[in-house]
Amino acid sequence: MASQSHSIDLDFDHCHIWHPYTSVINPLPVYPVARAYDVFIELEDGRKLIDGMSSWWAAIHGYNHPALNEAMVSQMHRMSHVMFGGLTHEPAVTLAKQLIGLTPQPLQKVFFSDSGSVSVEVAIKMAIQYWAALGVTSKNRLLTVRSGYHGDTFAAMSVCDPVTGMHSMFKGAITEQFFAEAPARRFHEPCTEEDLSDIRIMLERHHLEIAGVIIEPVVQGAGGMRFYAPHYLVRLRELCDSFGVLLIFDEIATGFGRTGRMFALEHAGIVPDILCVGKALTGGYMTLAATLASERVAETICSGNPGLFMHGPTFMANPLACAVASASIHLLGSYDWQASVLRLEAGLRKGLEPCRESRCVADVRVLGAIGVVELYRPVDMGVVQKQLVDKGVWVRPFSRLVYLMPPFIMLDEELGKLTAAVCDVVKTME
Ligand SMILES: *Cc1c(COP(=O)(O)O)cnc(C)c1O
Repeated sequence: MASQSHSIDLDFDHCHIWHPYTSVINPLPVYPVARAYDVFIELEDGRKLIDGMSSWWAAIHGYNHPALNEAMVSQMHRMSHVMFGGLTHEPAVTLAKQLIGLTPQPLQKVFFSDSGSVSVEVAIKMAIQYWAALGVTSKNRLLTVRSGYHGDTFAAMSVCDPVTGMHSMFKGAITEQFFAEAPARRFHEPCTEEDLSDIRIMLERHHLEIAGVIIEPVVQGAGGMRFYAPHYLVRLRELCDSFGVLLIFDEIATGFGRTGRMFALEHAGIVPDILCVGKALTGGYMTLAATLASERVAETICSGNPGLFMHGPTFMANPLACAVASASIHLLGSYDWQASVLRLEAGLRKGLEPCRESRCVADVRVLGAIGVVELYRPVDMGVVQKQLVDKGVWVRPFSRLVYLMPPFIMLDEELGKLTAAVCDVVKTME
């Protein structure tokens, strides 16, 4: 049976299906995938691509992992789903215990949702409801930094970078939030008071209107793949406390080991009031996210009017998703993932270094299992994508960035092929 190939109807796909951020009038080609296993994505024509994306940060253990498959199949035989209103189940309870165990102590209350964007919506609603419960209705807006990315739904979009998030297109439909300059210091650079002056001024001026600051700790992902000084977060925590503003960390991209720590917040050693996780939560198997709140935030919300947190998705805490998330976290705990991420960090540094010599390259940077080649000009996606596939790798550049975030299980030899392919293709862009 396995050898039987069912040809995917690409013409139908071309005519009827929207892919992420694409035109239906002039769509770029899409590659038909037959299966994926280990670090490989196998196309219908039999070509095996080394996966450099972990399917957008998610597939940290690679594809078709026996332990994750087993977790889902055995859960499916018990139940695939039941509503979460008035009912609960073992996969949700086990996963919540694991999340509370892995995150800093004050974060004690877990709200499950379906996707990263929704977990951000939930975090924003929590922050606004927190102040409303205290009788402060003026604090209903958010402060964030430029170059951020927090998702594609409306509230999430409102805190994305206003330029790359194309706020002008949705003017009037999207809440106008406050934006400070993006953190300027790089990961290893010291951060000064000067570097925080913009966000401090915003807080001074507007704290009576601001419910919370939302930020991706240490790594700004889809908004530019920037790695910034953890000390910025230490000072930001102090500023939030002194101005009476909640701090929300979006760890949807960075969570579960990607930066070399289980959560990026560990680089700074501080605790947010609200934390969003998603993407790698299920090891890339299912769509699931969670918003964790501190005891204080959660209890304040629920002590106000109407005494409830006002959110409840249909597929909240889906048991299949919770079961596989639980297995994925268990798997992380069963081997030395930190050593794997360090090994990948070294391999990415060595492998991407030659890109620096290209005249079209503005910067090469690596943190944990994330490698970034920043170009001076945006890539021609159609051309570059095909070149990369022809070299046997799956990498999806955007704008001026060619970046890698391989599954943690990738072997050095595979990583070498991946980085060599990127360097070769970057060289052709000169
Ligand atoms: C991907 C991402 C989101 C949105 O998650 P979705 O699951 O795509 O809705 C939010 N924040 C960050 C930092 C992300 O990387």
